[in-house]
Amino acid sequence: MGHGDLAEQLAKTIDLLVEQEVLPLAECDGRVLAQDLISTLDLPPWPNSAMDGYAVRLADWTGEPLVVSQRIFAGTAPEPLAAGTCARIFTGAPVPQGADCVQMQENAVVHTDQRVSFTEPLQMGDNIRPQGQETTVGETVLSAGTRLGPIELGLAASLGRDRLEVVRRVRVAVLSTGDELIEPGLPLGPGQIYNSNRRVLCSWLMRMGCEVIDAGILPDDLEQTRARLAGLGSVDLILSTGGVSVGEADFLGIALREEGELALWKLAIKPGKPLTFGHFRGVPVIGLPGNPASTLVTFALLARPYLLRRQGVLEVQPLRFEVPAGFVWPKPGNRREYLRGRIEQGKAIIYRNQSSGVLRSAAWAEGFVEVMEGTTLAIGDRVNFIPLSEVLN
Ligand code: AMP
Ligand code: MG
Repeated sequence: MGHGDLAEQLAKTIDLLVEQEVLPLAECDGRVLAQDLISTLDLPPWPNSAMDGYAVRLADWTGEPLVVSQRIFAGTAPEPLAAGTCARIFTGAPVPQGADCVQMQENAVVHTDQRVSFTEPLQMGDNIRPQGQETTVGETVLSAGTRLGPIELGLAASLGRDRLEVVRRVRVAVLSTGDELIEPGLPLGPGQIYNSNRRVLCSWLMRMGCEVIDAGILPDDLEQTRARLAGLGSVDLILSTGGVSVGEADFLGIALREEGELALWKLAIKPGKPLTFGHFRGVPVIGLPGNPASTLVTFALLARPYLLRRQGVLEVQPLRFEVPAGFVWPKPGNRREYLRGRIEQGKAIIYRNQSSGVLRSAAWAEGFVEVMEGTTLAIGDRVNFIPLSEVLN
């Protein structure tokens, strides 16, 4: 099945998290808004000057110099503008009642008697930011399901909010399966490799605002698999890597079948063909293939959108855009490929060796180059590019 269909299927089985919490803005970065943010203010709250200059009523400017009747700084409340005068005004200061335009100071001449004339014509509304130009009272400024970042938090601050209702964090247990795995820092024994997936996933999940329970390395053993799964306590998702390749003793699958349900998918993507999804005692389980390239791609394309959707995020698919290929692809594949690539001089190029040095190539890369199944590419043909920055958050 295509991974788009799988993403759909996963979406259907998703229980949205309902619990919310109210947090100070400073703690909301990376979290998901639980309630629409509705403006209780007009922004700007009053008409204000976009320039340093002179506020005037257009009808009063006849070409005769005008007396400056007041000086209005940002943060002050002006008097109504006296008829036949102008007001010195600074950027962000409220426009006085009666003024309908602002002449910028560069177009003003101050005479020796302190009166002012303008060297350029004026129009009604010039250099005035009207009340409610950005937002009006009652408008929905951000919808529930929005992921909050610096810009959204700034917007909430501009509306005077010092706290927001956010969806509680998703609790994810990360399991690394494989008898060959050992943690970095320990001496490497025969046949062993260091566990890198755990670091990739735990750090990635933390960036996504998840609560991470690092459940360590799980040996390839049914009894221990059962016991470890049972001991995880209350989590929203168990995310494991490894042990889903064809032909391997599939202990995760057996445990799920015994105490829950299991679906094993073969995805038409490369890397990342086998993927397990199921439940263990009611807790959703996603089993990613253990090859670090497969883990990377399946997490980015499936597990990440799944986790965002659990929190009620509406837009879970990463941005992708078309670029001309800067490489040739002579042999059509039967699976959709996600190559580690970069944009150079406006064209997508790919790491010289896509099969090995997976994390090195991904560290070099700026994104995934998506090559559709059954296609060949010549230089200049269009390919999709998914920036890593789109998914690594
Ligand atoms: P598996 O999906 O268990 O068949 O693993 C596929 C390949 O990925 C094997 O070469 C494993 O040694 C390797 N692998 C599995 N898990 C990890 C891990 N956590 N870190 C690094 N490599 C891994
Ligand atoms: Mg394994």
